Parts: sequence; C-alpha cells; structure tokens
Amino acid sequence: MMTEDASPTDRTDRATVAALLDLSHQLGDSCRSLCILGEGNTSALLEGGRLAVKASGSILDQLQLGDLTWCYQQPLVQALDQETMTDTQMHDLLKSSQVSSEAKKPSIETVFHAWLLTLPGVGFVGHTHCLAANQILCSPRGKDFATQRLFPDEVVVCGRSSVWVPYTDPGLPLAKAIREGVQQHMQEEGLPPKLVLLQNHGIIALGATSEAVLAITLMAEKAAAIFVGAAALGGLSSCGPNKLIALLPGRMNTSGNSVCILGNPLQATEIPYE
Ligand SMILES: [Zn+2]
Repeated sequence: MMTEDASPTDRTDRATVAALLDLSHQLGDSCRSLCILGEGNTSALLEGGRLAVKASGSILDQLQLGDLTWCYQQPLVQALDQETMTDTQMHDLLKSSQVSSEAKKPSIETVFHAWLLTLPGVGFVGHTHCLAANQILCSPRGKDFATQRLFPDEVVVCGRSSVWVPYTDPGLPLAKAIREGVQQHMQEEGLPPKLVLLQNHGIIALGATSEAVLAITLMAEKAAAIFVGAAALGGLSSCGPNKLIALLPGRMNTSGNSVCILGNPLQATEIPYE
C-alpha cells in the first residue's frame, strides 16, 4: 500500500480532476435520470500511470475531491489476466493499487475503468444506469440497440456501433467481459468504441475529454428514448447504419465546416450541436 500524497499538485492533473468532478455532477444531475443514489462511476487518466476514480458508495452529483481516489493503473490492468478472484482478493487489489492509504476505497468497477483508460484517445470514462437506455438493455432488444442506428447525430456522437456485453457480475468478471467485447470491436472497426452497453445494467461512455463523455452519454440516452418510442409506435424505421454513414462524410454545419468525425476519436469541439 502506497502512502505518498495523492492530491493533484500538477497543473494538468488539477484541470483533469476539476473536469472529472464537473462531469460527475452533470451525470448525477437528477433531472437527467442517468443515475440516482450511489449509482454510476467516473474516472480520468492522470499523469504518471495513475487514474482518479469515484470512491465506492459516493454520490455522483455530490462528488467532492475527497470522494475521488487515486490508483496506479498497472496492477489493476494486470489483474485482468487472472482467471478468477475472490471478494477478499479484489478488496486487497483495490486497496493496494491506491496511491494513498488515507483515501476512500475505490469503486468495485475500478478495474474496467483502469483498462478502458489504456485505450488510445481515451482520457475520461463515465458509467451510468440511465433510464431510457436501461429500458432497452433490460429487454430482449438490447443487442439491437448496439447495432441499429436511427439518426445521423447518433452515428456521429456514439459511433457506428456500440459494444454489447451480455449480463456479467460486477468486479473482475464484468471487467474481463468488457475487455473482450472492446477488443473484438477494435478488431472489426480499427478504433476504440465510444459506447459500451451492459445488459441489465447500464452504459459506459469513453472519450478524450469530459465533454465528449457527457455528449456521448446524453446522445445515447436520447437515442434510447427514440428507439423505445419508435418500437412502441409500430417498429423502428431506419434507413440503416450503412446508409446513414454514407451520407455523413459530406455533411456540413451552418458555418460551412464539416462536422463529420467518423473514424476519428471524438473531439468535443467537433460535436455537432444542431
Ligand atoms: Zn453500474
């Protein structure tokens, strides 16, 4: 167990932590129905092979600096190569990965956060139990929502498809299932996903910035509400993701600049708020 000071003294880390706290408050805003009580968790990559992650049991919309905990990424990522882990072993791993022994215990989902933050272009991760998305993820149509895109901005912001992860228990089993799904997606698409869907559980948004993670989460939730509404009104009327994607490269915004970002890591400044 490490005992060094975990406070964000580096200027870059201070800015990252401020952005992480703001993202947490935005995702925890009760008006958005993305998370209530202690649901959901957030993380960000810091300097020196560390990450900041929500402490277990903390509430997103009330998150303070002391409700974040700093962990070393490497031991958490290495744990993914273990076959199984008892609850005691997981507890010991989480405690031993902490930069400061004085900090609160990290979220049980810290292992998947640590691994997702190793992906190229990923600096922030936001996991929520959002209402509309979970209506689908708790139904037999969950896998369809991962692959069927209904409108152009959904493709632009959330990517051509999402990773689908069948229900798995939290902790190491879920982290391993997420890694497997994301690696398969990267083989097929050549890029990390922007959105991971967890059956009977929730969603994970990945982005270079906190703004990107918020945008992906909000767009996924909007797409889910549209998906549910369309299904209730007789079925999904889609021109198909391939047609949508084919239309997008020439798409321009009102100032004449292309807003198409397909195939590139999402940059907050390129998000088409239209
Ligand atoms: Zn969760």
